[in-house]
Amino acid sequence: MKEPDRIAATLALDEPIERVSMVSPTRASVLHKMGIQTVRDLVYHRPRRYVDLSAVVTIAQAPIAQNCTIVGTIDKIQQKKPRYNLSLIEIGLVDDTGVMMVTVFRQPWLMKSLDTGMRIAIAGKVEFNNFGFKRMTNPLIEVLANEESMAGKVLSIHPATEKLSAAMIRRLVGNALDYCEGLLDFLPLSLRQKYNLMSQGDALRCLHFPKSMEEKRQAFRRLSYEEVLLLQLHMINESRKRASGFNPVVHEIEGEKIRALAQALPFELTDEQIKARDEILMHLHEAEVMNHMLLGDVGTGKTVVAAFALAAAADSGTQAFLMAPTEVLAQQHAKTLGPLLDAAGIRWGLITGSTSEKDRGPLLEGFASGDICVLIGTHALLEDRIVPANLSLAIIDEQQRFGVDQRAKLLAKGQAPDALFLTATPIPRTLALALYGNLTLSYIAKRPHVLAQRTTKVYQKAQRAKAFDAARAALKRGEQVYVVCPLIEKRAKAASGLSGVDEADAGGAVIFSDDDFVSTDVTAATKMASWLKGSVFQEYEVGLLHGRMKSPDKAQVMNRFKAGEIQVLVATTVIEVGVDVPNATVMIIEDADHFGLSQLHQLRGRVGRGEKDAQVFLVATTKESKTLQRLKALETTDDGFALAALDLELRQEGDILGSRQHGESRLRFTNVIENEGLINACHWDALAILDNDPTLSEPDHGALARELRLRFKRDVELLGG
Ligand code: ADP
Ligand code: MG
Repeated sequence: MKEPDRIAATLALDEPIERVSMVSPTRASVLHKMGIQTVRDLVYHRPRRYVDLSAVVTIAQAPIAQNCTIVGTIDKIQQKKPRYNLSLIEIGLVDDTGVMMVTVFRQPWLMKSLDTGMRIAIAGKVEFNNFGFKRMTNPLIEVLANEESMAGKVLSIHPATEKLSAAMIRRLVGNALDYCEGLLDFLPLSLRQKYNLMSQGDALRCLHFPKSMEEKRQAFRRLSYEEVLLLQLHMINESRKRASGFNPVVHEIEGEKIRALAQALPFELTDEQIKARDEILMHLHEAEVMNHMLLGDVGTGKTVVAAFALAAAADSGTQAFLMAPTEVLAQQHAKTLGPLLDAAGIRWGLITGSTSEKDRGPLLEGFASGDICVLIGTHALLEDRIVPANLSLAIIDEQQRFGVDQRAKLLAKGQAPDALFLTATPIPRTLALALYGNLTLSYIAKRPHVLAQRTTKVYQKAQRAKAFDAARAALKRGEQVYVVCPLIEKRAKAASGLSGVDEADAGGAVIFSDDDFVSTDVTAATKMASWLKGSVFQEYEVGLLHGRMKSPDKAQVMNRFKAGEIQVLVATTVIEVGVDVPNATVMIIEDADHFGLSQLHQLRGRVGRGEKDAQVFLVATTKESKTLQRLKALETTDDGFALAALDLELRQEGDILGSRQHGESRLRFTNVIENEGLINACHWDALAILDNDPTLSEPDHGALARELRLRFKRDVELLGG
């Protein structure tokens, strides 16, 4: 056999998918919609899950109430419509040992792909029905081609759509793998040997066509190592580039403005705040670019710590940004920090999307001349017109809300400015270190108000009156109340395809009541507000806040709530970030089961911010015990870090990396909690590589440098580099 042309095979990775056999223009356009443009995208398309056919049981053996996989032949298949807007398919599945009934809700298109006589694999929980049959509801269904029915094989299931089945995607992936067969591994051999990793080609093949679950695991190990290593290299590179050629400002940290700020504070800093402040000031004083993250759960008082960094810039005669993700939050910063900055003699301004042209002019001028020292704002700060005279510091609040490119753009407005990131996403120290490349950290664990207690209670919808009673009691004491309504997304039925079933397994988030398909957050919140006004809270002022309101309207409602003119605020999740009303002590979260734990935790951080005790009520619509169990975690712990360990959803690194903007996270094969050891290893390997060969120009690193360019091309384009 001829030795394959390795260079050509490697280049093939970045060719358009149309080159792959069987990828017709129609299929290509479906793939494009899934974000798959190149051969690389296709071979790195991660299967959603695997069905281990070696673990198949017979229908007779299948244990009740447990998850298992069964292979059988369709004996009967029938579509039914028991009521308007509800369609289901019933399948009678047989194997040599018996019959199993299968019911599939809301996937009528399956009628097109299933037929009697077909061999299929189904995976799901076995139930017992009234007539004595074993049955499964909404199992994962996979049509087996003949060669796939043999035992001892692991079947990869790719995210599919109605137009492109998982089986077809698997075939196309197979063809794509053939197309780039023999590609050169970009990972230096020394690293592969060090960790005993599969080659890139082998790993990709085993990702899609593993012979065993162990092979699949090894493929993940390799792909996980490569993606984290590349990310590390990229981030370390970027932060070094930012610093190169410039002399970072050595900030004055014992100046009079810092002292004046300390004196103007209406409270004493906690020990943790003092420690964080001093760590930050120390880095600001160093002649190196600061890359510092301040981590603290909501309500731990990060803002005032950050104010000291602003004062250090002022004392140094340089300028600083404070960027927040929402208008409400930026205004709140202006309101709380403004007087402190004034007292310290620091000139500051506020620029948001709703700042008028008229007001903007003097601010832009003042900032360009250096007259204004601190500019607080939203994304509006990123505008090209905003040019500092001498920027030495950029603070980004709730940094996980911003995209990589936005953070970079703000930092690019100065010459090697120091960066301070504030975040409420709890990330263990080693992980944050590893994931962000070169980063120093400060933690604040405790909220300043030790006396105030916050309790959380989970209620079923039927018990929700108890929550209202508690709210009314609080109102009577002169306190205030939040009622939060969730964003219920319309489920895209066609797009979810088979995958919908899978999500049901994972999070219990699939809803079967018809109403759930039509409401949106806004209508839900609006209805809720008028209902509450007319019934439960008749004698109080009820306000409404949602994401589709105009910024000035939002600000007005917020201000009235802060001033106590509105006592009950009905809101969608727009209040999630940073809002601060110490007098608000009760929060009722409707349909809490629609939220992730981390989001609920963020939300409840809005109450218990003052000295008064706070109560949070999570009202669940579901009766499903798994979901309720998940919510109960919030009853048992008030600690965001402990919660993070419990919360699967938080394990998704997308949040942590702040890459929401791109719509997908950059780590596909890595679980940031479970793969901590691997992440650390990558961090040190990346540092070692760059220390020895900063430009990656050694022959051994050529392929690595190329891969790095290709993978992060999009980031670099966004940065205009
Ligand atoms: P977060 O860390 O969530 O951004 P904030 O900075 O908004 O928290 O602070 C939460 C609340 O705690 C604010 O009302 C703030 O004024 C108050 N606060 C901060 N530090 C202290 C302190 N040391 N003592 C009393 N209250 C404080
Ligand atoms: Mg904050």
